[in-house]
Amino acid sequence: MTETTCGTEGERCANSLHRHSRELPAGREGLLEWEAERFHLATETLGLDSALVCALHCAVRSVEIEIPLLRDDGSLTVFTGYRVQHSTALGPAKGGIRFHPGVTGAEVTALARLMSWKTALAGLPFGGAKGGVPVDPTTLSTRELWDLTRRYTVGMLPVIGPEVDVVAPDLGTDARVMGWVLRAAAEAGLDDPRLVTGKPPILGGTAFRASATGVGVAHVAERAFTHLEGPFDRARVAVEGFGSVGRWAAREAADRGAKVVAVADITGAIYAEDGIDLPDLEAWVAGGRPLVEYPRADTVDGSVLTVPCDVAIPAAMEGTVTVEVARELSARLLVEGANGPTRPEAEAILADRGVPVVPDLVANAGGVISSYFEWVQNHQRLPWSIEVERRRVLERLDEVWDQLATVPPEKWRIHALATGIGRVVEGMVASGEILDGEGR
Ligand code: GLU
Repeated sequence: MTETTCGTEGERCANSLHRHSRELPAGREGLLEWEAERFHLATETLGLDSALVCALHCAVRSVEIEIPLLRDDGSLTVFTGYRVQHSTALGPAKGGIRFHPGVTGAEVTALARLMSWKTALAGLPFGGAKGGVPVDPTTLSTRELWDLTRRYTVGMLPVIGPEVDVVAPDLGTDARVMGWVLRAAAEAGLDDPRLVTGKPPILGGTAFRASATGVGVAHVAERAFTHLEGPFDRARVAVEGFGSVGRWAAREAADRGAKVVAVADITGAIYAEDGIDLPDLEAWVAGGRPLVEYPRADTVDGSVLTVPCDVAIPAAMEGTVTVEVARELSARLLVEGANGPTRPEAEAILADRGVPVVPDLVANAGGVISSYFEWVQNHQRLPWSIEVERRRVLERLDEVWDQLATVPPEKWRIHALATGIGRVVEGMVASGEILDGEGR
């Protein structure tokens, strides 16, 4: 993982021993580069000097493990497992574990950085981390997935912990996987529900967590739409992704009166001008049928985000908002449910076209805010009702949104980033990790 040592551009990094994102082999550019580019714009607004910028961007710890997995057919596959703890300046590192074929050390590093800025922006006493395994979980049997999860957990046990690095679900993982993580750690001697958030409620998880990210995305979408355009019940919404974020975002947007006209998942995209009956679609998908074959909507060629709509919500993967999508988008607002969905070149086009982007750090922060409240409830050994947790998560999101709404939309991303980064710097100074006045 040498290329992930430092994501700072070479000419701006004070440490000549570091490798830099600009040196990534061709074809490997992606979220690492985009995050670095935006990070530098944000640090420029803060007036930070290059040595501090480098220190801020470097990860506290990057771990890579090999996971030999005995397959059901008797063969052996060796997977790589990553965990990057980017920052612990404001508290234990915090972030999800991703199981997806596209996982790389570079991607996990960039996502860990985004977690640091996100937790800081939300005012949570956490740092940032992310983990992952390059694997398509749908190609594994339940036993293989269970075994991989347990081996990943045991392999990472020396570096994770309830006061050190708290794990959670991300793309390709869910509450069931988190239950397995918890159990594997307990059997290996680390028996503490605070190690994992997003776990099943029966094991100390919360009833709100599974829906929290998506509900938060819809909440922020409503706040932003109302701020810019008017009542949310006039909004036609398109959602890319029908998993743990997109499904709940669509449902919540519809519950709040918006018309969800299009959704998409890995099987394809569908559109219905008069709105999609989401409970009916969920029943269709729950029956194991492909979303794209849903009979009461038309199929869409290309990106679902380009259908006629007012609010586009990419809630699938990073990088799905390409230059082409940005050009074709009819929406007047883009709300980032996924982490890093908008490519910088696409963002420039959206800016030219006057389409505001609510950045991931704000739009999808409901997930990690809910994770924080789960961790707090585990500390207290006092579960709150789902209503209390939902209200507190949305209140915290409102605080973040209200702050963002004080600046014009074209500054939203950099303002959110700079606020998060600024708080991490403040924490580093307060703890003496960097001395006040030094490197600034
Ligand atoms: N994976 C989610 C995110 O990217 C949630 C992380 C967490 O709850 O710790 O924000």
